Amino acid sequence: MSYNIDTKCVQSGWQPKNGEPRVLPIYQSTTFKFDSSEDMAKCFDLEDSGYFYTRLQNPTNDAVADKIAELEGGVAAMLTSSGQAATFYSITNICKAGDHVVSSSAVYGGSYNLLAHTMKDLGINVTFVEPDCTEEELAAAFTDRTRCVFGETLANPALKVLDLELFAKVAHQHRVPLIIDNTFPTPINCRPIEWGADIVIHSTTKYMDGHATSVGGVVVDSGNFDWQANSDLFPELTTPNKTYHGTIFTETYGKAAYIGKMVTTLMRDLGSIPSPNNSFLLNIGLETLHLRMERHCENAKQVAKYLKDHPKIAWIKYPDLIDDSDHELANKYLPDGSSGVTIVGVKSGRQGAVKFMDSLKLAAVVAHVADCRTCVLHPASTTHRQMNDLELEAAGVRPDLIRLSVGIENVQDIIADLEQALANI
Ligand SMILES: *Cc1c(COP(=O)(O)O)cnc(C)c1O
Repeated sequence: MSYNIDTKCVQSGWQPKNGEPRVLPIYQSTTFKFDSSEDMAKCFDLEDSGYFYTRLQNPTNDAVADKIAELEGGVAAMLTSSGQAATFYSITNICKAGDHVVSSSAVYGGSYNLLAHTMKDLGINVTFVEPDCTEEELAAAFTDRTRCVFGETLANPALKVLDLELFAKVAHQHRVPLIIDNTFPTPINCRPIEWGADIVIHSTTKYMDGHATSVGGVVVDSGNFDWQANSDLFPELTTPNKTYHGTIFTETYGKAAYIGKMVTTLMRDLGSIPSPNNSFLLNIGLETLHLRMERHCENAKQVAKYLKDHPKIAWIKYPDLIDDSDHELANKYLPDGSSGVTIVGVKSGRQGAVKFMDSLKLAAVVAHVADCRTCVLHPASTTHRQMNDLELEAAGVRPDLIRLSVGIENVQDIIADLEQALANI
């Protein structure tokens, strides 16, 4: 039976058999017992799919990965210990030294550092393009070594909405997949695979967990990219792998070749797995994701409307507002709401921003976003502090920008808190 996404949030993933626990159990075990060495050896050769060591697979982690794959409409998924690990794995699964990535410049600060510096040091080159570039500008960024295109559905913190269809089209014209970070909208508000994305990643630390308990990430494979037809570009998926006696991932895993390779090579060698305990907490978060996203969006819309008309506010960006520069794209890709995050600048600039934030009582100043409690952050002095002014501008982060992550409390209480803090500056 095919369920609606709300039902999938509650029910997908763990499917207990007769007499098994109703609730997803925490398999807090590093290892799994076999009756014979030969049975275990078959797993090591990928001949049998069984659990043997939690760095490669764990039933708690796998059940949660399966739920997220279903929510995004993919064929397989792999959980990671953080969103950063998910970004790194999603790219290095198909890029090696000498290869090239085309990325939107409006991405999370950590993703920018990873792409512009750490990956560059590893020999993977990146060309950044404006998220609202033209088709010609996007096409001009490709080289013969380009192996993927990267971007965020709704950029953190710039709140630029990516034209997913355009980016998918140009990526596919160049025979490479589109990798989309869908952290802010979550699959409740947007499913990038439906717009042509091939790989979807998340920092599950944000709305998916939703309660700020566990850092985590996930990579979802749509199963749609034809690695075989582009085997000259992606031989690592379509030719024999030496470390598994000549296994060919596209033959062994079919549509799930990309995730199959990621688990059996990158996770085997780099090991950024989540603890089963954290995956259990993530699953509890996912069970209410659909309810929370609705409330986050409802509250944020009211807060944005309130701030927009406030005399002490210089500017506000929230894609759901009718005169927002991204409203048209938001209408297309995020018709049910963008997220609970809005960004604002106060008229008194950088200093006013700090005074305003320090005056808040209900909203907390934290290095976090997208959890059920309202919180605020000044990116220029925290998450994006490694960037110079030019880089900040390219990422859409003004020096006076305050990121306000609207929670699921009573919206009148949130607005009253903003009101008293604004009165203070
Ligand atoms: C937070 C975030 C990340 C990084 O995730 P961590 O879980 O903090 O490692 C990546 N992308 C986006 C859009 C994020 O908001």
